[in-house]
Amino acid sequence: MDAEAIVIGSGFGGAVAALRLGEAGIRTLVLERGRRWDITDPTTDATFSTFQGLDKRAEWMNSVSRTPAYEGRPIEPYVGVLEIVEHGEYKFLVGSGVGGGSHAYGGILIAPPRELWGDVFPAIPFDEMENTYFPRVIETIGASPIPDDILDTPYYLGLKVFDRQAEKAGFPLAASTTNGMKDGRTRFMMGIDWEKVREEIAGKRVGSTIGAQFWFGQNSGAKQTLDQNYLKRAEETGAVEIRPLHLVRRIEAIDGGYRVGVDRIDETGSVQETVSLTCRSLFLAAGTLGTTEFLLRAKARGDLPRLSDAVGEGLGNDGDTFTVRTNLPETTNPHLGGPGAIVVMNYENPVYPCVMMRAPLPRFEQDFPKLDVMGTFIFTMTPHRGRMTLDPATDQLVLDFASDDLSKDAARHLAERMATATGGVAGQPSSQITGHQLGGAGMGSVCDTAGRVNGHPGLYVVDGALVPGSSTCVNPALTIAGLAERCMDQILATDLKRA
Ligand SMILES: Cc1cc2nc3c(=O)[nH]c(=O)nc-3n(C[C@H](O)[C@H](O)[C@H](O)COP(=O)(O)OP(=O)(O)OC[C@H]3O[C@@H](n4cnc5c(N)ncnc54)[C@H](O)[C@@H]3O)c2cc1C
Repeated sequence: MDAEAIVIGSGFGGAVAALRLGEAGIRTLVLERGRRWDITDPTTDATFSTFQGLDKRAEWMNSVSRTPAYEGRPIEPYVGVLEIVEHGEYKFLVGSGVGGGSHAYGGILIAPPRELWGDVFPAIPFDEMENTYFPRVIETIGASPIPDDILDTPYYLGLKVFDRQAEKAGFPLAASTTNGMKDGRTRFMMGIDWEKVREEIAGKRVGSTIGAQFWFGQNSGAKQTLDQNYLKRAEETGAVEIRPLHLVRRIEAIDGGYRVGVDRIDETGSVQETVSLTCRSLFLAAGTLGTTEFLLRAKARGDLPRLSDAVGEGLGNDGDTFTVRTNLPETTNPHLGGPGAIVVMNYENPVYPCVMMRAPLPRFEQDFPKLDVMGTFIFTMTPHRGRMTLDPATDQLVLDFASDDLSKDAARHLAERMATATGGVAGQPSSQITGHQLGGAGMGSVCDTAGRVNGHPGLYVVDGALVPGSSTCVNPALTIAGLAERCMDQILATDLKRA
């Protein structure tokens, strides 16, 4: 065997698996299609693309930009940070690179409310997550809430306004996201190094966080991406080797383990070499779309003969919607500051329980010169699900995900409540863009609650594909990483237990 364990993908699930395997002394290879993104100079925009100067580093293998609001801009095909998968009215965004989605994400590490947890994860005690696994992720990443002195700067004016508006609209302060299903608002953990944000404000680092740059990576280094914590520590164990620019094409069961077919690519995506690697234990962590595609392909080819017929089912997006409120009676600096940090919890929404967060975008500066708007995400506790299949004619992944109109109704209700109480005009919610795809190899159908793929001992799913279509009504990264920690505890204690 080439390794005792192979982990495919290095995002929230893969990074957790890599560290815990390494700590257990298990010889592990991490295969990641994207490149490493080491920050070369935190005082300039040297490492990653920005929105304003969008270039090839922003996107995965496109020759014209597909980034929402920047479509059509010519770029060169490159192993950039964001893959954009289009389906109907939706654009599914997927991170790539050593660290996966953590380069693209906003740093939002929010815990789901206790009261909704059991609806999605009936077999996983919330107490275990709250007492052990969420704190373990928060500590390993080094997350903390936004401090007052940063909130008080003009860069976060919009967040202050958001908080004030929420209070006026009847959302009182709450201690946490678990709030007895009452409406409220609270600060939560962010995977941001606030000291580095202070240095951005002081001009000692380039203004990435304060300039709302996060989709394509953050040049200042203030975002605590997984390559700086979980994956760094995994490599430091000496048992884990990370191989970037390794695009996995095929997985199959063999006697005593698994074989993985891989294209080693260069930064333009051209194949340098095709290799096959074998291992005893295989951890799938290529993200919801990547992992599900491996499983669907293996099923179609007979490479994993005992795989459940439920593979591909349960695709969800946390009811992800986006709304802009315009013509506010005050300036908000909608193009500055980072996303999230404070959440408005509208658990008493008449359509679905939902939450709202501020979503700054650099683009707002040119689109709304009066700077009197507020972009917001609203995520809902929706039962809406779709399905992923393989098209036998093209051998491509097909996403069957209809418009979730009730989530838009819930979002509209919340946005209008804010507008009625505080002014401005609530625009129509859209659901065109999401990075919250979940499901496809859900626990309870394709896998058990520790990510073991039913019928195939030694094969595990530890990423967003394991989450059955929803992380309640909040952003999924903490849930994915927390569940991966729980999976690894169980797998290491039983399946991979050493004498
Ligand atoms: C713009 C954006 C902002 C977001 N903001 C937040 C936020 O603030 N908070 C939050 O909770 N969530 C956020 N999300 C969602 C969050 O990033 C994802 O839910 C999370 O990254 C999923 O973790 P994962 O382990 O399932 O997969 P990923 O983190 O996507 O990691 C999968 C990895 O597998 C690699 N891979 C895929 N296919 C292959 C292959 N064939 N061979 C080798 N490697 C492969 C990918 O390159 C990637 O590195 C955001 C997403 C986006 C796109």
